[in-house]
Amino acid sequence: MENEEELKDIEIICRDCKKPFIHSVKDQLFYKEMNFQNMPKACPECRKAKKEANNKKNRYDS
Ligand SMILES: [Zn+2]
Repeated sequence: MENEEELKDIEIICRDCKKPFIHSVKDQLFYKEMNFQNMPKACPECRKAKKEANNKKNRYDS
């Protein structure tokens, strides 16, 4: 069996709240699987908040 390239948890500073968050090995594997080329730029909380804001906006638009 070939060696998987070694992955480690990465600490990233959220571009929205400027707080560090962990991009875990599990998340990195998920990103790889989805063929995402970029690292996440915002922490899970900010991404969730943004998603909810979008949902709200869509509701008002329709
Ligand atoms: Zn954040």
